[in-house]
Amino acid sequence: MKQSLDVETLNTMVVEAKKYTKEGVVADYIPALGEANPETLSIAIYRGKGDCIAAGNIREKFTLQSISKVITLAVALMDHGEEYVFSKVGMEPTGDPFNSIAKLESNVPSKPLNPMINAGALAVTNMIIGETIDEKLGRILSLVHEMTCNPEITYCERVAKSELDTAFLNRSLCYFMKQHGVVKGVVEELLNLYTKQCAIQVDCYDLAKLGYVIANDGKNPNTERQIIPLHIARILKTFMVTCGMYNSSGEFAIKVGIPAKSGVSGAIMGSVPHGIGVGIYGPALDDRGNSVAGMKLLESLSSRYDLSIF
Ligand code: GLN
Repeated sequence: MKQSLDVETLNTMVVEAKKYTKEGVVADYIPALGEANPETLSIAIYRGKGDCIAAGNIREKFTLQSISKVITLAVALMDHGEEYVFSKVGMEPTGDPFNSIAKLESNVPSKPLNPMINAGALAVTNMIIGETIDEKLGRILSLVHEMTCNPEITYCERVAKSELDTAFLNRSLCYFMKQHGVVKGVVEELLNLYTKQCAIQVDCYDLAKLGYVIANDGKNPNTERQIIPLHIARILKTFMVTCGMYNSSGEFAIKVGIPAKSGVSGAIMGSVPHGIGVGIYGPALDDRGNSVAGMKLLESLSSRYDLSIF
C-alpha cells in the first residue's frame, strides 16, 4: 500500500463519496428495500486477526441480496464439484441486466450464462443439498457464520417475505428453467429458499470478513483454518471480477480493479487477493443496481492505495 490506511482518512473518503448518494435511488421492486435511507454510506475494512477499521454508520444492518450468490455458489461447488455445477450454469459474463430472461431463450440448449445473474443463482440454489428448506438455509448460514465468526447472523423475515410476494420475474425465470430441465422440484420452494438467502442480514463488519475469507484463499479470518477449498475461493474471486457488478463489471474492472460483488440492498463486498476484505453499504443505486457512492468509495480506495489487481 502506498500510504497507511487509518480511520481519519477513511472518514474523509466516506464524506467525499457520500455526495454521490444523490445520484442514485433505492431499489423498490422489493418493497421492503424501498424503505432504506438513500443518504447512508458506510464501510468496514478487515485486515485479518481481528484488525478492522470502519467509517460511517457501521451498526446499520442490511441484507446481502445478490452477494449471497457468491456464498451459495461456494456451497454448491463444495456439495457437487465443478463439473456438475458448470454443466447446469455457464461461466461467461453478460452485458444484460441481472434479471434478464433474454439469453435463457436464445441460448440452445438453455443454460444461464453465469451464477451471478438471477437465473444462474436460482439454478445454483436449486442444487444445494438438504431435506428441507430450513436445512438448506441452515447450511448456507453455517458457512456465513464460519466466515464471519458471527453465529448470530440470520435472515430478515420481512425482507424475504416482501421479495417472495413480488418475485414475479424470478418466478418466470424458474418456470422457464424448469421447462428446460435446468431446475428441478417445486418452484415455490426454490423461491422461498432463494428469497431467504438474499435476505441474510449483516453489517459492514460481517461483510468485510466475508470478503476477507474469499480474498485469502478461503481461510477463517481469525484462525486461518481452511473453510472453503483454495480452488473454490479462486473461482469465486474470478466470477466477482468478470460478473460481480452485473453489466458494469468491465468498467468497474478498469476503474477499480478489485474483485467485488454487489447487491440491490446497496451492499458491495470487496476481496483484494491476499489482502483486505471490504464491506460497503450505500443503498442509493445506479440504473444497473450498483451502489453509486459505494462504487465511488471503492474507486478512491483503490487508486489511493494502489489496490487494483491489474
Ligand atoms: N433478491 C434480488 C433479486 O433476485 C437480488 C438481486 C440483486 O441483488 N441484484 O432480484
